[in-house]
Amino acid sequence: MSDEILDNLNDKQLEAVKTTEGYVRVIAGAGSGKTKALTSRFAYIVNRLGINSSNILCVTFTNKAAQEMKKRVKRLIGESSDVSLITTYHGFCVRVLREDINKLQYPKSFIIMDVEDQKTILREIYKELGYSNKEFTFKHVLRYIAGAKKNMTYLNYVLKSEGLKGENPLELIFNKYLEKQQRNFALDFDDLIYFTLYIFFNHTDILEKWQKKLHYIQVDEMQDTSENQLNLILLISKYHENLFIVGDPDQTIYEWRGARPEFLVNFDKQFPNCKTILMNQNYRSTPNILKVGNHIIKNNKLRVDKDMFTQNQEGFEVLHFHGKNEFEESLWIANEVKDLTENQNAKYSEIAILYRANYISRVIEQAFIRENIPYTIFGGIRFFERKEIKDVISFLRLLVFEDEFSFLRLINHPTRGLGKKFIESLTILSEAQGTNFYKTLVNNISNKELNRPGAIQFINLISELKELIKEKSISDLVKIILDRSGLSKLYRMDGDEDRLDNIKELINSMILMEIENKEAINLDEYLQEISLYTDLDIKEDNSEKVKLMTIHISKGLEFPYVFLSGLSEGVLPSAMSIKERRKRGLEEERRLTYVAITRAENRFYMTESEGFNFNTGLSKYPSRFIFEISERFYVRKGELSQEIINEAKQRIRNEVLESSEKFNIGDLVLHPVWQKGKITQRDDIKNEYIIDFFEIGKSKPIDFSYQYLKKYVEVTMTDEMLKEKRKAEEDWIEYLKIIDDDLDNNHFFNNSLT
Ligand code: ATP
Ligand code: MG
Repeated sequence: MSDEILDNLNDKQLEAVKTTEGYVRVIAGAGSGKTKALTSRFAYIVNRLGINSSNILCVTFTNKAAQEMKKRVKRLIGESSDVSLITTYHGFCVRVLREDINKLQYPKSFIIMDVEDQKTILREIYKELGYSNKEFTFKHVLRYIAGAKKNMTYLNYVLKSEGLKGENPLELIFNKYLEKQQRNFALDFDDLIYFTLYIFFNHTDILEKWQKKLHYIQVDEMQDTSENQLNLILLISKYHENLFIVGDPDQTIYEWRGARPEFLVNFDKQFPNCKTILMNQNYRSTPNILKVGNHIIKNNKLRVDKDMFTQNQEGFEVLHFHGKNEFEESLWIANEVKDLTENQNAKYSEIAILYRANYISRVIEQAFIRENIPYTIFGGIRFFERKEIKDVISFLRLLVFEDEFSFLRLINHPTRGLGKKFIESLTILSEAQGTNFYKTLVNNISNKELNRPGAIQFINLISELKELIKEKSISDLVKIILDRSGLSKLYRMDGDEDRLDNIKELINSMILMEIENKEAINLDEYLQEISLYTDLDIKEDNSEKVKLMTIHISKGLEFPYVFLSGLSEGVLPSAMSIKERRKRGLEEERRLTYVAITRAENRFYMTESEGFNFNTGLSKYPSRFIFEISERFYVRKGELSQEIINEAKQRIRNEVLESSEKFNIGDLVLHPVWQKGKITQRDDIKNEYIIDFFEIGKSKPIDFSYQYLKKYVEVTMTDEMLKEKRKAEEDWIEYLKIIDDDLDNNHFFNNSLT
């Protein structure tokens, strides 16, 4: 009898599926069929054991992955089954809270805030307290808030109005934030978990209800689970003790926000009776792709080696394209995409473009729009649809076309005291005189309805800028616009750094275009091209689209064709990540690269280009990860000169030297905070010293590359030195925060909620 649930599973997977009772863990590499085993197990428990699907909780990391899993399970157990408990951690918490939050005197209709909502609250608070983002950026404050909530004591205030004290500005902001949240019964993403844990800790009846309901619990992507999520899972699985976890330590990519991969690794210590199943056959990728993946990840020192093999056909060669600039790079991708779809039977939807940081989508989007390739961005807003980008483009449009749309967008933005009434009067006049808004305003500025200081200022600004069109380059013009219109100030005051970053990226793209073009670009032409980008209607109804997304979002997914773009040093590995977390950061970047490669089924392409990296302030060169793969394993397209290769390798070597160890065992050293110490050990795997600090009587691990460690020399401190010491202390505290303010923060939040 053919059996849809159990056919097509290998022995290991069958074992995983059929071991339904007790603690079970699967550790296996990418594409080895972990998620398949997990979904089959779900179906097996429902169909073979007769358990209702509402008694099985199945959690995974992103919404996308959860949706994918629901689809797979429904195919096995029927479309009409209840799969609402196949979800994310946040999704599960929302479910619990919608049922039981009234225990905390909160209404079931509580509001869930996303990052934008959080920023809106902060904006109000800044206004009330008179702060601007000069003092604190939103990113900084949101990070502070997340940190302050961690120990959950804030709940005493929120739920019982107990003991909220604060003196320093950050505490004041935090308190106000909590007040506003409470007044609106609004929960941010972190609250979802904390409120749920709080209910479980304090209302045993509810905890028991859920514990008893959830006969089986399955967790995918276990390696990226944070401590709180872990506690939640352990708590609710305590009654039936049927917990199935799967993961791959090599795919840990959220260590920067608290992932605890060691839980998966040490699961057997905590639960000695647990069963462990290892799988090492890869079903997803061709041997060519797998070789590249295996080769990269081997360079990580903090890992257990587990080589994957596959019986899939050899397949196509992996390609590396090196472009002379980012346009060439994105154009090459666009051309390959066209070739795949036009000549090789590929569908647009089978192609994914992955990148490390959101801003990279911009240049690819431009190429795709120009080449008429339909695309969609997973978990993000298209670059040219972002509010601040539209503001700037509208300004340019207003200068050239004097269109109403742009006029209305900008006349009172930033505020010039020109409200609804003003617009009404202007509309009437404009209709009567048959001229556009801008001309009407200019012609009737002495009219008493229109003669306002803000309006005069506005037309002066526009006419001044119109004069500048001919003499200035577009990028300069935009800088002047930002400055004189007050938009720049507005974004800065607003505290949302992303807006400023996006604007910077827009200006950079203009500068690059000007360099490329050699001669000045006509503003009309530029706007015509851009108008395509801002058109919301571009092939919106067509589901056949290339998928653009960050590597973080792509986790757990697979695509026949994968392009990893922007594989430049400083981007992947991210310079920021290395700066903040050194060796650990670098290893996480390597795992990210591994995740990207192992998404590919048939073909894998990696691309990067020369030019200037505005983030690192250096000229771009290929990522060290490219050099870590033996050239036997891929074919290079585009011209990469030996000079660039040498220069790239030299720079990477210099960086390694700079950041490598300077002291020997026995050396006396001076640390800015813990003072005098002696090096007692060196851990060459973790790249750190073990130092005995005399003053505190403790030994601590210190990274080889920590730059404030000095050889100890007996001196008396001058004021100047004390100042430097304080500065070093501050830096050290910053250094200890193992949280990345990476561009992907928001992505994670936006995508983990069902
Ligand atoms: P990742 O680590 O990336 O999450 P994974 O281990 O969860 O990967 P799956 O997504 O479950 O891997 O499986 C990868 C691909 O291999 C899927 O297309 C799946 O259908 C296929 N596959 C899994 N197991 C088998 C099998 N026994 N026979 C044939 N194909 C399989
Ligand atoms: Mg998986």
